[in-house]
Amino acid sequence: MKVLVINAGSSSLKYQVFNMETEEIIAVGLCDRIGIDGHLKHTPMSNGKEVFNEPVNLPSHAEAISAVIEKLTSEEYGVVDSLDEIKAVGHRVVHGGKKFTESILINDEVLKAITECTTLAPLHIPANLMGINACIDAIPGVPQVAVFDTAFHSTIPQQAYIYPIPYKYYEANDIRRYGFHGTSHRYISEKTIEYLGKGAAGTRIVTCHLGNGASLAAIKDGKSIDTSLGVTPLEGIPMGTRSGSIDPAIVEIIANIEGISTADAVTILNKESGVLGISGVSSDFRDISTAAGINSSDGSVIEGVTPNERAKLALEVYAYNVAKFIGSYFTILGGLDALVFTAGVGENSPPMRAMICNYLQCLGIEIDENVNIFRNNGEIVDITSPNTTIKVLVVPTNEELVIARDTVAIVQ
Ligand code: ADP
Repeated sequence: MKVLVINAGSSSLKYQVFNMETEEIIAVGLCDRIGIDGHLKHTPMSNGKEVFNEPVNLPSHAEAISAVIEKLTSEEYGVVDSLDEIKAVGHRVVHGGKKFTESILINDEVLKAITECTTLAPLHIPANLMGINACIDAIPGVPQVAVFDTAFHSTIPQQAYIYPIPYKYYEANDIRRYGFHGTSHRYISEKTIEYLGKGAAGTRIVTCHLGNGASLAAIKDGKSIDTSLGVTPLEGIPMGTRSGSIDPAIVEIIANIEGISTADAVTILNKESGVLGISGVSSDFRDISTAAGINSSDGSVIEGVTPNERAKLALEVYAYNVAKFIGSYFTILGGLDALVFTAGVGENSPPMRAMICNYLQCLGIEIDENVNIFRNNGEIVDITSPNTTIKVLVVPTNEELVIARDTVAIVQ
């Protein structure tokens, strides 16, 4: 069974096609600059077909899906003989609100309920819906499944999801912690439970998804019991461009300083803050490491570079905040069996893993510095020091595979 997985953003649309008999990826691609001019990169993974990487006119998501279908079925770049081979489409949907606690087959009623989540994710849900509607129009009759970023965190208890603000905002407006990156936290926690080999019952895991966006989750018995992102993906640890948790009064203070609306001040917290805001260098951890004079692949000092102090500070603030969250999750879990790193930074930055774990020795968490500098090859790597029993693992994430698996499970 072949499944198309779609991750639609406001001006981009990422896709992968899986052969679910083998869980092999047979094509990946990205439509970029939708609504501006348009570009498509399509990479067939098998059968020696060409890579397509050229500007394509993409006025909307509808044209993007048409262009993807054309490439998937074409003589030169194609991976299926006909569109009939695609038996289902799985869509990443950023917010499921209170209503969606698991993946679901899309119908009119579900579309309406997803639309109602727009107030909670006004930038993301309209883009997700454009992707879904474009697929329904382009591949009619093929089942479409929605997989929600928030769903895995639907198990977190009230004391973790209620904000200390007037209760009416929860009751009337659904303002509560939802959390995001759920498919990633779910995938890596399941992999970790498999690795620990004792079953889910009794396990205590902290998962750190450290990418451009970043979040941590506390996972007990295989279920999320707390997570660092909130009603929106702005809370928690500092991120590439997002501030994470700060004194909420800063919003009004910035608005007054700049003479802008509070909405524009929140945009500064979303787009100009985090490690970019502190360092003034970049949102990319490789650039910041280099500016700080640290080789991001092994933590060695780069000769001849005068370390940029703000770049160093950005890395320090980041590591400090991640460690603080791990400490608090250690407490609510009542101890820890495994600490897990994933996503761009978590999988690829040995110095950042080391900086974070340096704070955690008092909890009995220690890594083997020599194993830590391995090169990511997509496998699970155990970087635990021989001195400790709490496992520290690097588990490469695969959100698209989770979406494809859920899609198959629902369609079948
Ligand atoms: P997202 O999916 O949130 O866009 P990713 O999980 O792909 O992000 O992570 C992207 C980030 O990973 C980049 O911004 C970069 O900072 C970081 N990254 C990738 N490779 C490395 C590396 N070798 N060292 C440090 N950081 C890295």
